[in-house]
Amino acid sequence: MKRRPLLIGNWKMHKTAAEARAFAAALAVPAVRLASTADYVVCAPYTALHVLRVTLPRAVALGAQNVHPAAQGAFTGEISTAMLHELGVRYVIVGHSERRRLFAETDAWVGEKTAAVLAAGMRPVVCLGEDETERAAGVTETVIERQLQAALATVTADQAAEIVLAYEPVWAIGSGRTPLPEDAQAVAGWLRAQLAERWGTAAAARVRILYGGSVNADNLGGFVAQPDLDGALVGGASLDPTSFLQMAHVLTGGNA
Ligand code: PEP
Repeated sequence: MKRRPLLIGNWKMHKTAAEARAFAAALAVPAVRLASTADYVVCAPYTALHVLRVTLPRAVALGAQNVHPAAQGAFTGEISTAMLHELGVRYVIVGHSERRRLFAETDAWVGEKTAAVLAAGMRPVVCLGEDETERAAGVTETVIERQLQAALATVTADQAAEIVLAYEPVWAIGSGRTPLPEDAQAVAGWLRAQLAERWGTAAAARVRILYGGSVNADNLGGFVAQPDLDGALVGGASLDPTSFLQMAHVLTGGNA
């Protein structure tokens, strides 16, 4: 089954609203060349979402980097799904390793967020991946299976097309190191087999699986050539509009 290629930029804590506006402006003219055969997303800081909504080319969807699963309440500093949806957000990253590691987010908490994002009519981008120690210990699959089961605890087969999984080995994020594309494919293929056991082959074939970790325009092609990898979640290289457009070009096989 052919899935729509997907490129997601994760800006992390970068760019003020003014800088986000400049990024959108730089994309505006070349954006006419963004192939309609793929999906493009920018996950920006909350403070830049409004300006991006009004300035980003239509071909580029708006994403957020986090959310609180409760509908509302006394959660100082948090943001709800309704607040994001109202701003035009369509994708929300959940379980990024920086949030798991630096903000003590648990697997169960990631599952609650995933459910909340889906319930609000947005697409969760669920990040999974092993760290360096786990990799060395040969427990990558055990770790990812635990993360996957918790993240999808309440998700049903008919929601498969709305789910995005991002395989992000923690040791590859921001490090300039990547696995071989074949090794990332081995994990993605294994992930899809897990999904098939859970939901059946047809539903598993609808889930988009991305690779993330030190992706750039030079190495993206190797990853998206793999049968189970449908695109990339990109941090550093998504900050520069030229680089973003180059990756869009690679993603669509030179048609962007
Ligand atoms: C990320 O933030 O998810 C990421 C993959 O970062 P980088 O591309 O900078 O490694």
